[in-house]
Amino acid sequence: MSERRYLLRTFGCQMNEHDSERIAGLLTSDGYVATEEAAEASVVVFNTCAIRENADNRLYGNLGHLRPLKQANPRMRIVVAGCLAQKDGERIQEKAPWVDVVVGTHALPGLLDLLHRAETEGPQMDISEVTEVFPSALPALREVRHHAWVSIAVGCDNACTFCIVPLVRGPQLSRPIGDVLAEVQGLAGGGVVEVTLLGQNVNTYGRDLTMPDSPRRPLFADLLRAVNEVDGLRRIRFTSPHPHDFTPDVIDAMASSDKVCEHIHFPLQSGSDRVLKAMQRSYRRERYLGWLDAIRQSIPDIAVSTDIIVGFPGETEDDFVDTLDVVARARFDQAYTFQYSQRPGTRAATMDDQVSKEVVQERFDRLVALQQAISLERMRQQVGTIVEVLVEGTGRKGRAQGRTRTNRVVHLDGDHAPGDFVQVRIAGAHPHHLDGKPVREPAAVA
Ligand code: SAM
Ligand code: SF4
Repeated sequence: MSERRYLLRTFGCQMNEHDSERIAGLLTSDGYVATEEAAEASVVVFNTCAIRENADNRLYGNLGHLRPLKQANPRMRIVVAGCLAQKDGERIQEKAPWVDVVVGTHALPGLLDLLHRAETEGPQMDISEVTEVFPSALPALREVRHHAWVSIAVGCDNACTFCIVPLVRGPQLSRPIGDVLAEVQGLAGGGVVEVTLLGQNVNTYGRDLTMPDSPRRPLFADLLRAVNEVDGLRRIRFTSPHPHDFTPDVIDAMASSDKVCEHIHFPLQSGSDRVLKAMQRSYRRERYLGWLDAIRQSIPDIAVSTDIIVGFPGETEDDFVDTLDVVARARFDQAYTFQYSQRPGTRAATMDDQVSKEVVQERFDRLVALQQAISLERMRQQVGTIVEVLVEGTGRKGRAQGRTRTNRVVHLDGDHAPGDFVQVRIAGAHPHHLDGKPVREPAAVA
């Protein structure tokens, strides 16, 4: 019998990349082998994202392209997984009846069952809303050996008015601390040196947990300290946190845990108090900047990245100037900038005063230009320092590429394999990466 092959396309955030490792793991455990060619695939999986616009158009475009292949090969199975599957399940089946399986974010563990049932019973869908098995507990097929995503919680209890996440991922459900630790220990034992702890709002980890033998719940700070003790591990990262939940105990745990990297993602969303209120974000600009100062005092040289949305409904030029002002004061190392996208089902989607595309684009360009200059300035401050780089692979132009503990991308000279730690002197700076040359001296923490 010829090999059964699968093609897997992943859209969206790290949570989806994590889930895709599990999809690949499940299919591999069932005897499938990966391919990049749709024409030779017996299973094609789209792991979708619903956070921003065009995800749906892109999905239906992709499904349309597959239709003739499916007609030519009726045994091909097409799977739509992820947030869009969770949100639009029946709509996907109506618009693309040649899809065999629609599997939501909570139902991933049943993927193989659904595929097998589709063989005899026709199209299947499971978009149930209860997580019974954490995707992290499923077999994983990782692209790299040295790094792993570890899910610590799914869902989110906040209700930011622009965000579809609570709708598609449900309320927060934290994974028992023992399960997380067992997974990290197993990973470290198998050669993983860096883990990224994943959740929609990682720093509220544990608030929904009860511990049978303990008077108090494990919280994110406890988790960081516990993961820090795992032998063999060298770097701990986490994403995505909420600024409001960077409580002093989390900052203390970061500062005192040597494996926790000196980088935080600190999503601002807007610098206007009026817009923050309409977004239902719990902080205001001065409070946000105060928290940032406190973190920088506790962990000097920490690098900070952020998310910013431009053109939230009702955003005026004055509001936008407030955002530029916070960006100028905060001096972020990197910013992920998004044009506001109307997400049906969210509160903001029905708000008056949606901002026109042209205005959003013009503001977006100004924000990107400002942040680009700040990113370059921050990168230039690194020139001449010696840093530890964990090699991730080969970048464009064939040079080795890796990251510092501060999450800065470094292109470096010489032959290095993924997973190598290399001491590097920074020789050049660009807005989104550094250039470096390997040295023998021990690195300072940077
Ligand atoms: N939990 C994180 C937080 O509280 O900031 C955010 C996670 S969200 C999955 C990732 C980012 O997508 C958000 O920080 C936001 O900037 C962006 N985003 C979410 N919904 C959006 C929308 N409707 N339009 C544009 N950007 C959006
Ligand atoms: Fe979405 Fe993050 Fe707000 Fe939760 S905290 S609703 S994931 S933006």
